[in-house]
Amino acid sequence: MTRISDLNADLHCHSVVSDGTLTPEDLAQRAYANGVRLWSLTDHDELGGQERARAAAQAIGMAYVGGVEISVTWMGQTIHIVGLGIDEKNPALLEGLRLTRDGRGKRARQIADALAQVGIDGAYEGALHFAGNHDLISRTHFARFLVERGVCRNTETVFQNYLVEGKPGFVPHQWANLEDTVSWIKQAGGVAVIAHPGRYDFTSTQMDQLYERFKDFGGVGIEVITGSHSPDQYQTYGKIAEKYGFMASRGSDFHDPKESHIDLGTLPLLPSNLTPVWSVFH
Ligand code: AMP
Ligand code: MN
Ligand code: MN
Ligand code: MN
Repeated sequence: MTRISDLNADLHCHSVVSDGTLTPEDLAQRAYANGVRLWSLTDHDELGGQERARAAAQAIGMAYVGGVEISVTWMGQTIHIVGLGIDEKNPALLEGLRLTRDGRGKRARQIADALAQVGIDGAYEGALHFAGNHDLISRTHFARFLVERGVCRNTETVFQNYLVEGKPGFVPHQWANLEDTVSWIKQAGGVAVIAHPGRYDFTSTQMDQLYERFKDFGGVGIEVITGSHSPDQYQTYGKIAEKYGFMASRGSDFHDPKESHIDLGTLPLLPSNLTPVWSVFH
């Protein structure tokens, strides 16, 4: 009998509805071709791609769960919480996401103003040109514009030199709060999962506080196998999952065939000692 942890589940990726470059339909095809048998599209702060993703998955015969990746401000830093198994028509979640997206337009103009200060003009229009969804203009779209302009050779370098804290194009932003975020996901019938914990710049005491608070609010999962983690971090966050009793998730965080180092469905499988977050969908 195959173990449930051996399922090729990819529960984190992005389409043109947020900052990915492929349509939900193309992502579904690509996931299935790469062996994915349980899939979720988790666009940032946005559910506009869910119906298309589900329909495309159904047409291929690939199991699908509704997903979203929500931007949260916690202890002064941006973290991401993934909601899985959510109902994309839930009013509480839709309204929460609308509020979370709301500041992106103003922030984008501020980013463009900041870039103009260092001699890069036309960044707002330039970034907007790359955004498939004008309600969801993100730093990724600025990064693509700066590459097109020849300012940097790839998006990774743009982030390092322009778009992160301490760099000229960085604009601080207040996203959703953690308790509300978990509550919206739960109200929509989903499970809340901490995305790529290895990416956050907290002390270990702060990380412990994050796990505790997240649990108190009703969060149940943590990404262990993600495109953002090194093999060492698979071990580290596998142990965290066991310590806190979190279910473990797996997702590539795929955005684009050229930009993303990890393709859909190609990460190592979840270690068999962990409880997969998808055990709740079976
Ligand atoms: P935003 O929500 O507008 O702040 O944009 C966040 C997105 O930027 C993330 O979801 C990633 O897709 C992308 N991103 C963040 N940091 C980096 C980085 N260092 N290199 C490449 N992409 C990044
Ligand atoms: Mn992204
Ligand atoms: Mn993320
Ligand atoms: Mn993501």
